[in-house]
Amino acid sequence: MSEINVQLKGGQSAQVAAGATVAEALKAVDRDAAKQALAAKVNGREVDLTFPLVGAASNGQTVEVEPVLPGTLDGLDVIRHSTAHLLAAAVLDLFPGTKLGVGPALLDDPRYGFFYDMIAPRQLTDEDLPVIEKRMRELAKRNLAYRREEITKEEALRIFGDREEPLKCELIADKGGAEVSVYYIDGSPFLDFCLGPHVPNTNRLKAFKLLSLSGAYWMGDSERPQMQRIYGTAFATQEELDAWVKQREEAERRDHRRLGRELDLFSIQDAYGAGLVLWHPKGAVVRKAMEDYLYEELSRRGYAFVYTPHIAKRELWQVSGHEQNYGDSMFSPMKLEETEFRIKPMNCPFHIGIYRSQQRSYRDLPQRYAEMGSVYRAELSGTLHGLLRVRGFTVDDAHLFCTPEQVRKEIADCFDFVVEVLKTFGFEKVRFELSVKGNDTSKQWLGAEEGWALAESALAEALDARGVPYERIEGEAAFYGPKIDLKIEDAIGRLWQLGTVQWDFNLPERFELEYTGEDNRPHRPVMVHRALFGSIERFFGVLIEQYAGAFPMWLAPVQVAVLPITDRVNDYAEGVARELREAGLRVEVNSRGDKIGAKIRAAQLQKIPFMLICGDREMEEGKVAVRERSRGDIGAMPLAEFRETALRLVRTRALSNTET
Ligand SMILES: [Zn+2]
Ligand SMILES: [Zn+2]
Repeated sequence: MSEINVQLKGGQSAQVAAGATVAEALKAVDRDAAKQALAAKVNGREVDLTFPLVGAASNGQTVEVEPVLPGTLDGLDVIRHSTAHLLAAAVLDLFPGTKLGVGPALLDDPRYGFFYDMIAPRQLTDEDLPVIEKRMRELAKRNLAYRREEITKEEALRIFGDREEPLKCELIADKGGAEVSVYYIDGSPFLDFCLGPHVPNTNRLKAFKLLSLSGAYWMGDSERPQMQRIYGTAFATQEELDAWVKQREEAERRDHRRLGRELDLFSIQDAYGAGLVLWHPKGAVVRKAMEDYLYEELSRRGYAFVYTPHIAKRELWQVSGHEQNYGDSMFSPMKLEETEFRIKPMNCPFHIGIYRSQQRSYRDLPQRYAEMGSVYRAELSGTLHGLLRVRGFTVDDAHLFCTPEQVRKEIADCFDFVVEVLKTFGFEKVRFELSVKGNDTSKQWLGAEEGWALAESALAEALDARGVPYERIEGEAAFYGPKIDLKIEDAIGRLWQLGTVQWDFNLPERFELEYTGEDNRPHRPVMVHRALFGSIERFFGVLIEQYAGAFPMWLAPVQVAVLPITDRVNDYAEGVARELREAGLRVEVNSRGDKIGAKIRAAQLQKIPFMLICGDREMEEGKVAVRERSRGDIGAMPLAEFRETALRLVRTRALSNTET
């Protein structure tokens, strides 16, 4: 066999010499792709560009080749993986005797692109990172080759043993077959046990950055050697890296935990328990405004409000199936006299109790019960994160009990409702995910297969009827039925999971819910669970980040700061504040002895939408000098004029203070 047939995936074919590499084969079928390729796939398997085709061409069959290009996820994987090796090469060069652990690429972690765990002869510090990064650049510029060798396991163990790399020897002994592949970066001290593929040369790595240093244990085991982990990231182009760095700074600037502290919105204190939120007065104002708005919308849409307790008898959670299917997420039972109780992880069974407190007729349906219902979940401490993942939270919950004929319209109405509500908070992009049981057998699902199929098709129909695009996700349904999850994109393009709309045919069955139909016979209602914000705590956290703490007027904890320039106008300033408060605005007066500049700075740091500066002249003319937090001074005006503008911004729930 002197020639091999190759075909570009979905493209041209050609013949190449039997000794050709995949790089040469790519060149024969697509010159441009060959130039850009970082690695390649041969018959679907990822390989280096230096891979010899001869091994893949059995029985004269055509070999399928496909370039791995920058700008694809596979390409990014190769870049980040290769950069992790470049990092190790630089560290070995600077700190001979360093023992290498593992260094994978990270594709799903928004914070990092790769890391390498290692034990250097001395403890590395943050000051070492720029030095290491500089050495990486030097090695990259020298255009060194990544060279693969395939050797026997014994040979590999001997080589790494000679290099005094005990961790690598352990990996090879554990994971290596009879033959193992090792990679050199020629011209550097680097050698690693790795499957590849990598970029062909170090100068293909042009956009990388080291980020931070942390501790790590070998194999994640605290009994094993303590190592140091260097985090970094890499992209195909400098533009992408720059954009990522900017996005990361922006995310840090918006971090709700820091802003929550600086703006005195909430705290989570160890003395009270991890994941349990204390809402401070200013945070509580925002929450109240959010809830008031929601109550207004709920009333308009025919919901009834209910209140229910935080605990219930243990048997209730057994009837509902929560104990059997959701028990791991519930706090343990507690006992009083002879009765056991459990704290609620969901509100559903309580609303069911209200429904079945009397005989229902088809004329009474739908029944729509809404509650800001506080629930508690036994989340593990490692998973908790600020307001985004907590142990106690309040769901803007509602349950709709309807006839099978009504349910599609009710669900469709929920979509309209959520889209409108989220738009009010400035989220224009809402995404829907249809989470179904699928073929996932790793979880427990309640009820018969037909019920699941019917519910899934009904949810899909409701989505289709509203013309909203959605993604179907298997295995993510609630244990009692399929659901639609809502995701929003925030001001800097991040996705957040919020509420859900769920179809439930199981709980009505388990609680034997009924209504009397037109035929005078008993029928089973369908139950819809829905939440728009999902968790109010979580949504509040998202809002803090969305607005970077600068809440729009209708949500701002303090809407107006009145700042007297001298003590002479303190009474006038108090009068201004009184008049605005009487009109319903949230106002603070700063009559401390500070200079006006300091007062403005303080109000600005609190991100108060408007500052009203009062001096002798304003007092004489009955005016206020208005300063807006992002535009600065906008001139003096009569107090009544400012009051009307401010009230209009609140009433219309304007997102920006220029929308008057
Ligand atoms: Zn590798
Ligand atoms: Zn529910």
